[in-house]
Amino acid sequence: MTTTEMPTAARTDLVGLSRVALRSWLERSGHGAHERVVWTWMHRRGGRDFSGLAALNMPRDLIRRLTEEAAVGRLPVEFRHRSGDGTEKWLVVLPDGHRIESVFIPETSRGTLCVSSQVGCTLTCRFCHTGTQPLARNLTAAEIVGQILVARDLLEEWSLPGEAPRRLTNIVFMGMGEPFYNYDAVAEAIRVLMDRDGIAISKRKITVSTSGVIPGMLRCNEELGVNLSISLHSARDDVRDGIMPINRKYPLAELMAACRAYQGVSSSRRLLFAYTLLKGVNDSDEDAKALLKLLDGLPSKVNLIPFNPWPGAPYEPSPMERILAFQQILHDARMITQIRHTRGEDILAACGQLKTASRSLPQTF
Ligand code: SAH
Ligand code: SF4
Repeated sequence: MTTTEMPTAARTDLVGLSRVALRSWLERSGHGAHERVVWTWMHRRGGRDFSGLAALNMPRDLIRRLTEEAAVGRLPVEFRHRSGDGTEKWLVVLPDGHRIESVFIPETSRGTLCVSSQVGCTLTCRFCHTGTQPLARNLTAAEIVGQILVARDLLEEWSLPGEAPRRLTNIVFMGMGEPFYNYDAVAEAIRVLMDRDGIAISKRKITVSTSGVIPGMLRCNEELGVNLSISLHSARDDVRDGIMPINRKYPLAELMAACRAYQGVSSSRRLLFAYTLLKGVNDSDEDAKALLKLLDGLPSKVNLIPFNPWPGAPYEPSPMERILAFQQILHDARMITQIRHTRGEDILAACGQLKTASRSLPQTF
């Protein structure tokens, strides 16, 4: 268990600030020109104790002001679960006491951190454990960036020399919440994560997963250019209406038009579609053919996800033979697919298994 203090209310937490905001904070004492050094120190070296800035030739009066008026906060981690397959789930405590989950998935050539964007979710997709937890609130940009900083702490990555390979290389917004229902904070955090003088994770290594919130998809494409994963789960409106209530707001025809518009802007990249197979619901040969028809002509890649059960779930996973038969139909039509291995299932860290206790607020969407 790790517990680290958060800044007191009187201090400004520098985590989550944009570069412009950091510069203007520093500028108030005439130190705007040192913004880059402070930014790199905290995001690339994990600096937290301002006295360390002395070694970087920062003026004493700046260090004194930072020490008195600012802090580089860290979200405390209450539990660290390790799965038998190496996946880790961290229960992160927010300043107001809410808890969220971040999951780290190590692989041979990369390590992916799955971050949360909300406490709970408004969208009540019927197969998703998070969807049974009413939305308590959106995360702030600081709380999203904070999940990455905590991960670097726990993975002991700050002391690595210069350009040594990191364990955490990729970020996916596939934890709790619908990222595009918290667009502004997610976008602000992504800008911090991509900044080359800081955490420097490129847009090609960041993926935002959405249940299909069209306005967010369009803005994300224009403003951020990161990868998009669209949670489809059915190519038929009648089925999708039943498992994902958002389909009634943004039905498939509109969703696919938005996908084509997205593709139009960045034609070099394939869109990623997630398709969780639910036994007897969306896993028939007809469902596979409907998917082929829906994605016809759209450069895409389909991730087939075996359903991850959770206590009280109203669905069962499709048997592996059914998943393979479904995949075969897609393969035969030259569609690129992959069956996503379930990771961290034994610690309820797999897709759609995340849930923490939260207060309930009315549904709003
Ligand atoms: N809210 C976003 C991102 C979080 S969910 C979204 O819906 O896309 C991350 C992925 O897990 C989504 O593709 C979601 O549909 C899928 N998922 C949710 N519950 C699942 C479950 N029980 N088994 C398998 N996949 C699930
Ligand atoms: Fe929310 Fe995504 Fe879960 Fe649906 S699948 S309830 S959008 S977190």
